[in-house]
Amino acid sequence: MYKKKNKKVKMFRRNHNAKIIKQKQTYSTEEICNLLKIHAQTVGTWYKSSLKRIDNKQPYLVFGQDLIDFIKVKNNKRKRKSEANEMFCFKCQKPRKSKDNIACIKIYDCKVNLIGNCEICNTKINKVISPQKIDEYKKIFRIQVIHDKNLLECGNTCTNTNTTTNPN
Ligand SMILES: [Zn+2]
Repeated sequence: MYKKKNKKVKMFRRNHNAKIIKQKQTYSTEEICNLLKIHAQTVGTWYKSSLKRIDNKQPYLVFGQDLIDFIKVKNNKRKRKSEANEMFCFKCQKPRKSKDNIACIKIYDCKVNLIGNCEICNTKINKVISPQKIDEYKKIFRIQVIHDKNLLECGNTCTNTNTTTNPN
């Protein structure tokens, strides 16, 4: 489809080398751009996702260690695809099974979110699945709560539970 596909892939390959970042140094947005050869916009989206800044004062500064952690998680996330019964834990930086195999399903805007707790560190873990796969995941996890605010709009068959859920 695209010309010079290999070149494109290389350009947009978003695995960054964390080894060139110095743990104890602080980096401005500009320095991050120069170091990792990325666009300031990219760094902007990183801030929005989870890259920690020292404060909100311009120019933004980032601790080297935070940048390293962020990039490692980012690289890992791309590298490791979680199994059907696993969700990615940001704390462990690994796909993990949910505690007691319990998962909550949350449905909004035609997206289905599975939410669980990491069986190792108990951090909240989640993943987005396609609405067509709900039944499949019902067999894998012990599903607890179902919110289905907007599912009807998706034209999918669904259980018609009330959005105000009662655990009893
Ligand atoms: Zn964990």
